[in-house]
Amino acid sequence: MEQSSNNFSKGRIRNLLIFGVIIVILLGILSYRVTSEPPKPPEGAKVVVICKSCKKRMIKRIVNIDNDSDKRNYCDKCGGRLAILWKCNECQFEFPEPKLEVKQRKFKSKSEIYDVVMKSQRCPNCGSILSHPVTLSEFKKDQKKKK
Ligand SMILES: [Zn+2]
Ligand SMILES: [Zn+2]
Repeated sequence: MEQSSNNFSKGRIRNLLIFGVIIVILLGILSYRVTSEPPKPPEGAKVVVICKSCKKRMIKRIVNIDNDSDKRNYCDKCGGRLAILWKCNECQFEFPEPKLEVKQRKFKSKSEIYDVVMKSQRCPNCGSILSHPVTLSEFKKDQKKKK
């Protein structure tokens, strides 16, 4: 009787050991999978920006340019606020993206909205309304030209 109960507990211990080993292996596989997962792609997109303070132009990864509390929206050199760099189609003048204060304003008509948008996009140099955000390739080409 004593013998059989001894055998029984030995068997149980062995089962527990096997169970424990399986768990350790499973955990190992799990942690291996977790650590070997590819790194997440960086947030946001690369855009050409200009520092409003020192006027330095650079390519930066921006998530939300309107977020004032995002450190990525500030110049590495002087800490100035960055803005998307725009370029006039007519005179090639470059300027920080004009900020629209649409939210704070009430408009009487659609044409008024149109008017404000158009005015805000006007080139500060020649007054043309034809402007566009500077693209990465455009910026790189420009940098090469200047060298
Ligand atoms: Zn700066
Ligand atoms: Zn212009």
